[in-house]
Amino acid sequence: MTNITANNFSCPKCSAVTELKLQAPLVICCPSCQETYFINKEHKATNAYLLKHDLSPLKVIELNASGEYKKIRFTIIGHIRSINTHSITNEWLMKFDNNTYGWLIENGFKYYIFENDPISISANSIIGKNVGDSVKIKEIDYTIYDLSKQIKFRMDGQIPENDFNDGELFIYEAIANDFVSLTTIVIYDKTTVEAFKGIEIKLTDLKISTLANFKKWLS
Ligand SMILES: [Zn+2]
Repeated sequence: MTNITANNFSCPKCSAVTELKLQAPLVICCPSCQETYFINKEHKATNAYLLKHDLSPLKVIELNASGEYKKIRFTIIGHIRSINTHSITNEWLMKFDNNTYGWLIENGFKYYIFENDPISISANSIIGKNVGDSVKIKEIDYTIYDLSKQIKFRMDGQIPENDFNDGELFIYEAIANDFVSLTTIVIYDKTTVEAFKGIEIKLTDLKISTLANFKKWLS
């Protein structure tokens, strides 16, 4: 049995129909009943059994909000909220009109755009490093400024299955000498380590459509 017809996902629990915005495999949170599912390449849905923590995000950036980055329009199609040992991050998946993806990340009221493509790095080059140590990724030297562990995780909307990880993973944050270029290094286990490159941006430059709601709320 398949839960997808003509790119529409029918929720096995509540029967609500949602349009798929990503290629399978992906993870989807039913907007109606909040149940989460893995959808594999054969378009079969299995329950992700994700515990839904009540971690209501700020409504500044909502699902389906649109914006602009480097003159390309995007829509927010997914959201991850990750509670770490000493910070909370919000990560919104941006689908650009040219069908590429990026992540808009909020951490400590700073905003970053991260590339969607992970860089595989050797576990030996990172495991055992501490805050203040340097790490070289693709010819750029970064200094580690934070190490944390993901404790809680929730997702909404749709994200690629590769980007779903509700486990207790370790996260290093490191910054380059220009203080704008960053890398987030995620340690999944003793052999799987990935780095993601990002840059700090000004949220207002993105012209996010739902920011206006926030202004109304403030006044
Ligand atoms: Zn549902």
